[in-house]
Amino acid sequence: MFSRAEGSPISVVTGGAGFLGSHLTDRLLAEGHRVIGLDNFLTGSEQNIGHLAGNPKYRFIRQDVSNYIFLADDVDFVFHFASPASPIDYLEHPIPTMKVGALGTHNTLGLAKAKGATFLLASTSECYGDPLVHPQTEDYWGNVNPIGPRGVYDEAKRFAEAMTMAYHRFHGLNTKIVRIFNTYGPRMRLRDGRVVPAFIGQALTGEPLTVFGDGSQTRSFCFVSDLIDGIFRLSRSNFHEPVNIGNPREMTIKQFGEHILRIIGSNSQLDYRPLPVDDPKVRQPDISRARQVLGWEPKVEFEEGIRQTIDFFRSKV
Ligand code: UDP
Repeated sequence: MFSRAEGSPISVVTGGAGFLGSHLTDRLLAEGHRVIGLDNFLTGSEQNIGHLAGNPKYRFIRQDVSNYIFLADDVDFVFHFASPASPIDYLEHPIPTMKVGALGTHNTLGLAKAKGATFLLASTSECYGDPLVHPQTEDYWGNVNPIGPRGVYDEAKRFAEAMTMAYHRFHGLNTKIVRIFNTYGPRMRLRDGRVVPAFIGQALTGEPLTVFGDGSQTRSFCFVSDLIDGIFRLSRSNFHEPVNIGNPREMTIKQFGEHILRIIGSNSQLDYRPLPVDDPKVRQPDISRARQVLGWEPKVEFEEGIRQTIDFFRSKV
């Protein structure tokens, strides 16, 4: 059992075996925290936390946080990162996605309140839906279809934000909300359906790149170490409103595919497929607030981050 009496901060990371949860865990351990990871492996993986086996500052509990969480330990920070997060994953698991955003957020807020801990919610640029304001600032309320296929993720996260603000206002809980924009890097799943692993995997094996729609929709890609740094800074701040964390370097999906082909030196063709329902046409974070409140901005160049990600995927294809 972790106790405050031993000194170093104690953090709980839900989704601790996921792409972002495992990178966040590594950062917290490097900062001297003790960490308790919770994950039910719906989309997380043991491989992401295998290197932590035997670390006395780390404990792992296999649990679905949509169910009641009991911990005897002291807790200083709760980071709620559990959720399917790729469009394919949440289309395949629509009800667990809604439950972990709604019930899981309620349970983790309750845990933070019971322990007197700071709470940080992993929210998303999907709160802006198919945005009518570009780039997206935090005071934009979004354009979300509640009953479309993506609604299970978007509305669960919007509920999670509302619940987090209610705990802050009503219970005085110290809460933070990060709106995470498209992030990439090692430990993504090769087949999670997102564009970064999809295109890199296809380019490495010489298959055609599956471009959805005409490829004119835009995204802005942030390397994982930059994102985690922004989140770590936010956890230490006194700021309670949502903060966008992402890289403002925007490109079309077609341009993204062409960059991947060039960097890998692949001759794969572009294979145009139907655009998924409600696929946002543009996405770019306005990071003025993160700059001002956290003194944060991304540092890793696109080419450098993509090369590291390609190296990770080489052994997976
Ligand atoms: N996309 C694509 N081909 C793929 C996977 C995704 O063209 O094999 C497109 C998708 O339609 C979207 C963008 O790439 O416009 C980013 O998709 P992703 O699933 O990575 O995440 P999203 O930003 O939509 O949540």
